[in-house]
Amino acid sequence: MNELPKSADVVVIGGGVMGASTAYHLALRGQKNVVLLEKQSFFGLGATGKCAGGIRYQFSTEINVRLSQLSLPMLERFEEETGQAIDLRWCGYLFLLTNERDVAMFQHNMAMQNRLGVPTQWLSGDEVRWRVPQLAAADVLAGTFHPGDGLADPNGVVNGYVTAARRLGVHAFTDTAVTSIETSGGRVTAVQTANGRIACHTVVNAAGPWAGLIGDMVGAPLPITPLRRQMLTTTPMPDIPSDFPFVIDFARSLYFHREGDGLLTGMSNPGEKPGFDESVDIAWEETHMEAAITRLPLLAQAGRLSAWAGLYEVTPDAHPIFGAVPQVAGYYVVGGFSGHGFMHGPAAGLLMAEIILDGRASALDISMLDYQRFAEGRLIQEYNVV
Ligand SMILES: Cc1cc2nc3c(=O)[nH]c(=O)nc-3n(C[C@H](O)[C@H](O)[C@H](O)COP(=O)(O)OP(=O)(O)OC[C@H]3O[C@@H](n4cnc5c(N)ncnc54)[C@H](O)[C@@H]3O)c2cc1C
Repeated sequence: MNELPKSADVVVIGGGVMGASTAYHLALRGQKNVVLLEKQSFFGLGATGKCAGGIRYQFSTEINVRLSQLSLPMLERFEEETGQAIDLRWCGYLFLLTNERDVAMFQHNMAMQNRLGVPTQWLSGDEVRWRVPQLAAADVLAGTFHPGDGLADPNGVVNGYVTAARRLGVHAFTDTAVTSIETSGGRVTAVQTANGRIACHTVVNAAGPWAGLIGDMVGAPLPITPLRRQMLTTTPMPDIPSDFPFVIDFARSLYFHREGDGLLTGMSNPGEKPGFDESVDIAWEETHMEAAITRLPLLAQAGRLSAWAGLYEVTPDAHPIFGAVPQVAGYYVVGGFSGHGFMHGPAAGLLMAEIILDGRASALDISMLDYQRFAEGRLIQEYNVV
C-alpha cells in the first residue's frame, strides 16, 4: 500500500458511493490533493455493498424526484464516463397499494411526478393482476408503475468512481480508519487515522451509517441513525419472467426483484431498534418469508441462496444532509439518505464538489437539505420509503 500523505487539500472519509462519487467529482473539477479514506479492506462494503440496487423516480417529495432526475441519467452515462459496466436494468418499479389512504397519497405523488416530467402510470387492481400474474393480488386496490425505474450494480458504481478518481490523481486508501479530527480556532486542521496523521483544512464526512461517529469527533452531533435492514436471495425461479418489475408491497414494506435467475426479497422490520448490528435476524426472516410467500406463492418452491443485513442511515425526516456544518469551518457532510442513497450517489458527489469548490450547489437547489434544518425545525416529509 502507498504511504499516507502528510497533508491534503481535501480528505473524504468513507469509501461508499457518497465518498467515491465526491472524490471523483472533486478531481473532475480539477481539485488536487484529494484523499479518500476507507476503514474496511475494500471500498463499498458498507451500506452501498449491502443495498438492493434499486433506482427510481417514484418519490413523494419534489426534491427526491429532482435528485433522481439528476442522478439516474448519470448512471445511464456511467460506463461511457468511467469505463465501468454497472449492469443497468430498466425493469420498472411497481408499487402495490392495498388501502385507501395509500391510494390517495400515491394519486397525489403520481400527479406531482407527472408534473415534473416523470411518466408514472396509474394501474387499477385488475391491471396489476394482469400485468404480474405471479402475484397473489386479490387485495390490491391499485398500483403505480414507472418503466424508467430499475436496477444497477452498487459495487460497479463504487469501484468505477474509485478507479476513475485514481486516474484523475485522487489518493484512495483502504484499511485506513479515521480515529479523530483535529480542529483549532473553530476550523478543521487534520485527521488522525490508524496509519498516520493528514493535515488538511477540508474534511467531508461520507461515512454512511457511521457518519454520526465522525460528527462526534468534531463536536457537531449528526441526526443520522443506523437501522438494520436485511434481505435474501433465492435459488433459480424459472417461472419468474425476465421483465419482472421491482415490486413493492407498500403497506407491508415488502419487496422483490429479479436477481440472477432467482429473486431478491426484503421486508423492513418496523420494530427494529437503532444500532450497528449487521447480523441476520432469523426470527424476522421467518416473518418476512411468510408475508413474501403469501404475496408471491412461487417463492414456496425456491431455496434460500444467501441472506445478509446492512444498515440504513436514517435522518428524522428521511431526507439527506448536504453541505457545510457552520459550527466547524472546513467540515462538510453528505449522508443520511435514509435507505435510497445508492441511486442518488452520483448526483450527491457532483453537488458536493460544487458546494466545496463554488460555495453552493448549482446543478440543483438543495438548500433545504442543509444541516441546520433540524435545529431550525424545517423538516421535510417523505412517504414512499420502505
Ligand atoms: C438492505 C439495504 C437495502 C438498500 N437498498 C437500496 C436501494 O435499493 N436503492 C438505493 O438507492 N439505496 C438503497 N439502500 C441505501 C443505500 O445503500 C445507502 O443510502 C447508500 O449506500 C449510502 O452510501 P454511503 O456512501 O453514504 O454509505 P456507505 O456505503 O456505508 O459508505 C460509508 C463508508 O464509510 C466507511 N467508514 C465509516 N467510518 C469510517 C471511519 N472512521 N474511517 C474510514 N472509513 C469509515 C464505511 O466502512 C463505509 O464503507 C439500501 C441500504 C440497505 C442497508
